[in-house]
Amino acid sequence: MDCIFCKIIAGEIPSFKVYEDENVLAFLDITQGTKGHTLIIPKKHIKNVYDLDEETAANLFKVVPKIANALKKSFNPIGINIVNNNDKPLQQVFHYHIHLIPRYENDGMKLSTINNYGKFSNDYFNNLSDLIKKSI
Ligand code: 5GP
Ligand code: ZN
Repeated sequence: MDCIFCKIIAGEIPSFKVYEDENVLAFLDITQGTKGHTLIIPKKHIKNVYDLDEETAANLFKVVPKIANALKKSFNPIGINIVNNNDKPLQQVFHYHIHLIPRYENDGMKLSTINNYGKFSNDYFNNLSDLIKKSI
């Protein structure tokens, strides 16, 4: 399969691994958006969150605090963003991965949410939550 992360798992292309177990691999993101930027991936090839089965999700996410704590201990960031991009144009590599992005003062990393507090009515919130609940 022509998947760069499967090739990393197989050792066919090099990577800087920080953690590995039967189901999961964590390695440094090649771009190092901030110091310690790490990716955590399942060894099973899964395209993105829409295809993630519960067992793989459980095996994967149990590793997240382990790596987050290691990054905190290693680099003393002011915080860590955890990000996962799904589907084009957000997603570049179609093998599910979680970004752990340690943050530092003035690191220039642009990750933010938009604050629309107070702009929407209770009806609006009710409509949204109903739609989501019906879709589960
Ligand atoms: P996304 O799919 O979430 O947009 O981003 C994919 C991420 O994979 C990017 O942050 C990119 O730097 C990283 N990446 C792409 N190719 C490689 C590679 O060959 N090695 C490593 N270590 N990271 C990669
Ligand atoms: Zn893959």
